[in-house]
Amino acid sequence: QAHLDRIAAVDGDVHAFLHVSETALDAARAVDAARAAGEPLGELAGVPIAIKDVLCTIDMPSTAGSRILEGWIPPYDATVVAKLRAVGLVPLGKTNMDEFAMGSSTEFSAYGPTRNPWNLERIPGGSGGGSAAAVAAFEAPLALGSDTGGSIRQPGAVTGTVGVKPTYGSVSRYGAIALASSLDQVGPVSRTVLDSALLHDVIKGHDRRDSTSLRDEWPSFADAARDGLADGALRGVKIGIVKELNGDGFQQGVKARFADAVEILQKAGAEIVEVSAPSFEYAISAYYLILPAEASSNLAKFDSVRFGMRATIPGGGTVEQVMAATREAGFGPEVKRRIILGTYALSAGYYDAYYGSAQKVRTLVQRDFSRLFGEVDVLLSPSAPTTAFPLGEKIDDPLSMYLNDLTTIPANLAGIPGMSIPMGLADEDGLPTGIQLMAPAREDARLYRYGAALE
Ligand code: GLN
Repeated sequence: QAHLDRIAAVDGDVHAFLHVSETALDAARAVDAARAAGEPLGELAGVPIAIKDVLCTIDMPSTAGSRILEGWIPPYDATVVAKLRAVGLVPLGKTNMDEFAMGSSTEFSAYGPTRNPWNLERIPGGSGGGSAAAVAAFEAPLALGSDTGGSIRQPGAVTGTVGVKPTYGSVSRYGAIALASSLDQVGPVSRTVLDSALLHDVIKGHDRRDSTSLRDEWPSFADAARDGLADGALRGVKIGIVKELNGDGFQQGVKARFADAVEILQKAGAEIVEVSAPSFEYAISAYYLILPAEASSNLAKFDSVRFGMRATIPGGGTVEQVMAATREAGFGPEVKRRIILGTYALSAGYYDAYYGSAQKVRTLVQRDFSRLFGEVDVLLSPSAPTTAFPLGEKIDDPLSMYLNDLTTIPANLAGIPGMSIPMGLADEDGLPTGIQLMAPAREDARLYRYGAALE
């Protein structure tokens, strides 16, 4: 009830939610009843959680921030949502996002932007600005996001929350509306590292309905975070600072807080080395070919027949006309831009030059990471090059919007886990900054151990 009251009080300004659950209190009471009956419950039973609207929920509309799916209620829950319900977490509602998770500011939502609770004239990051803002504004203690190129970590950085992109394949993508299938991962958003660990423990694990799901046995991430809270957890840890991810274009206040964090790590006994990953210079270019290529294919299913919206044409029109009119009216400008870019990059004659080259860069990024993880335990960078920028500033300048993903994209290209944790406020604007930790694939526990220690 307290969270529903908080949503009623502040969400008119923040607009983190696209839909607030009408059954949250019933679900919470059911957990109370189970507790009273002595049923064994998990650590998060009864805790409310906000869910990014990219995830299918059987009892709430799931629009992915798009007009084309307005009002669509899926016939099933995403695996991660089913897992939340199974341990008694209480879904509070669905959070706002850039349309089909394309964007870094939540301004590309078809339902209007979310605002940053720290300053309502600023963006909350994207694409998962709604989930991050809900947690930052105390509308929800936990949220789920999805991260294809930084959509959990960058909103975390600019709203002062914790966000984790798990190892690719460690959390099910079944029922997560696909953006780029080789990059997408669902992950936790919270206010502390331990909270994210507890949530990650609930959603991880193999799912036979996701063909890229790993069969690993995962250690307890909550135990890893608790280990990190013990004295001396950072002693002797080798940390690499990636030169290419802390360059000239970075905001002064971000660089200053990052330098403070490095000093704290050194004082705690960590060994800091500067490392270089030359391929990262090309990571954004590669990502913005691979992502549109995959997205153009994934979004082909919105054909006016199978899901959601269908445009009406005077006199009926042919199937192709109805399909075209629906996609014209149902998709926003950024989605159209990427579909066109993706189909172009995949077209005969250009395939090798664009998509093929991008895949080669992806391999180089993976090799740079393997080499660096032979030398250090974790890699470190600012989570985003700037603090939250003003609403409207980059909306007409796709390239400068894309550049905000510089720090987060390499981890997606390589499938490795990454975490953003709050790093203090920038002097010049008083807004949150974030620090990013990256670990080798399958070593998510390291992020929780060292993240909790640094926090
Ligand atoms: N900002 C990135 C993009 O626009 C990240 C998207 C994401 O992680 N979903 O593609």
